[in-house]
Amino acid sequence: VGEPSAQWRDYQGAPTGTDIECRGWRQEAALRLLNNNLDPEVAEKPEELVVYGGTGRAARSWDAYDSILAELRELGDTETLLVQSGKPVGRFETHEHAPRVLIANSNLVGKWDDWDHFHELEAKGLIMYGQMTAGSWAYIGTQGIVQGTFETLAKLARTEFGRSDLQGKIVATGGLGGMGGAQPLAVTMNRGVCIAAEVDEARIDRRIETDYLEAKTDDLDEAVERARTHAERGEPFSIGVHGNAADVLEGLLERDAIPDVVTDQTSAHDELEGYYPAGFTVAEADALRERDPDRYRAEAMATMERHVDAILDLQAAGAVAFEYGNNIRGQVEDHCDREDAFDFPGFVPAYIRLLFCAGKGPFRWLALSGDPADIHRTDAAVKELFPEKDALHRWIDLAQERVAFQGLPARVCWLGFDSGDDPDGLTERARFALRINDLVGAGEISAPIVVTRDHLDAGSVASPNRETEAMQDGSDAVADWPILNALLDCAAGADIVSVHDGGGVGIGNALHANNHVVLDGTDLAAEKAHRVFTTDPGTGVVRHADAGYEAAIEQATASGLPIPMRDR
Ligand code: NAD
Repeated sequence: VGEPSAQWRDYQGAPTGTDIECRGWRQEAALRLLNNNLDPEVAEKPEELVVYGGTGRAARSWDAYDSILAELRELGDTETLLVQSGKPVGRFETHEHAPRVLIANSNLVGKWDDWDHFHELEAKGLIMYGQMTAGSWAYIGTQGIVQGTFETLAKLARTEFGRSDLQGKIVATGGLGGMGGAQPLAVTMNRGVCIAAEVDEARIDRRIETDYLEAKTDDLDEAVERARTHAERGEPFSIGVHGNAADVLEGLLERDAIPDVVTDQTSAHDELEGYYPAGFTVAEADALRERDPDRYRAEAMATMERHVDAILDLQAAGAVAFEYGNNIRGQVEDHCDREDAFDFPGFVPAYIRLLFCAGKGPFRWLALSGDPADIHRTDAAVKELFPEKDALHRWIDLAQERVAFQGLPARVCWLGFDSGDDPDGLTERARFALRINDLVGAGEISAPIVVTRDHLDAGSVASPNRETEAMQDGSDAVADWPILNALLDCAAGADIVSVHDGGGVGIGNALHANNHVVLDGTDLAAEKAHRVFTTDPGTGVVRHADAGYEAAIEQATASGLPIPMRDR
């Protein structure tokens, strides 16, 4: 990727305040979001342009980064910039309702859609891994995933234990990276106890510094004893164990210390650049990867197979096991020829699908001013708008108290398509966005707010090992849906729209799309927000109704959303 850009060193994160260097707030938003993704407080390895999730990058090279910034500064209010795998490639006259930036990352033609071909192209400088929010400039640090993890674990507690939290329960997991680092906090926010294995001590320290994790040890006996003591007292607690997750889970089995829940968020989706093999320090493994990538892959896959075996054995011993979206089951099934790798479920069919049927997913927003007071104003607004949503209020209160901002202040909560008893029939997302736009217009919020969402959302992703695992009509691998979602986002006037391959599960395993809308207080923003936050969650309802989910059909009927071949 070259040497880090001088501009990036000068920025050290997103520019803040109300003065802009671009020709309009939409372009300025893109410039700030790109720099926010690469803020050293936000990104995992910003000097390599890596934001999170293995090698998820924000730009292809430092030259491409410099060039994107130059283009954004010149971009007019009726122009659209094209970014192909992290490199700016064209600029066209369009119109003010069109997106200002269109992004496509890591996409390959089906027959060539695998890591080998991707790595060949990457070595030639022709492509970049965009992960999900890395290459679409929508990453907001670990806080982005905290709420999703919190919700998933709360749902797990209700489904598996018939209670509203995890008090007295022990969750064992692995990976304390950009996303995985949210796990201990999400467990303790649910009043449970977390044991998290991580090979890289610096990552453990980073989570402790930011209050996502409470303690660390090299000694599994110590971790087990402290976890048990806190669980018996019903006290929330989290401890990072410095070691390989496969070794740690096997260690729990050897000690007959069966956790209540077992999962994983190591970067197993990428066996070369994401997952660490057992028996090596991080430095030794990094050197092996450089020297002998084939041997690295073989070592990593051997460890991953043991890792999955340990999860299956813990499940057999009574733990609730689920895969948390890193494709560890798919990797072991494909590379180790194991038919039982999928004998534990993925988190979407287990806990999330019904939310997707209602068009609900992780909806998030950032304050371009950089002023936390602007996010606190939005917190108040979301609570005023949805007084009946107890869980949302609890989340906002907990987030204010426990979730440190990284980079631009941001917030996330799950909102959907439902319009409830709103007199104007606005979706939850549209109601929220229009209210915020009014607050910006009235000067109660000091600069525009950008509203965006994860690629992991109701209608925006085809991912047979994750978001679309075990669809009831068998349509798991149909990738028309995210394409339609992105096309509709453009038609509705989102300000940035992106389509990626790979994401959290690796090249060839998923297609997914994302959008941003800049709420600058203008009528233009209101029109865009009204349309995008109706059509975008609406595609989630339509996608699940098409697959025959009753909950989605009921949502469509309740909202008057036409489903052509059902309605005629
Ligand atoms: P990351 O690359 O920032 O962090 C991964 C961490 O795992 C690193 O700290 C690494 O040192 C550690 N690690 C790797 N192999 C290990 C091993 N064998 N034992 C112990 N530690 C090991 O990635 P991330 O952003 O935290 O994402 C983690 C995984 O979760 C990825 O596969 C990602 O695609 C997936 N993911 C899932 C969701 C979801 O919705 N559930 C969301 C985002 C990411």
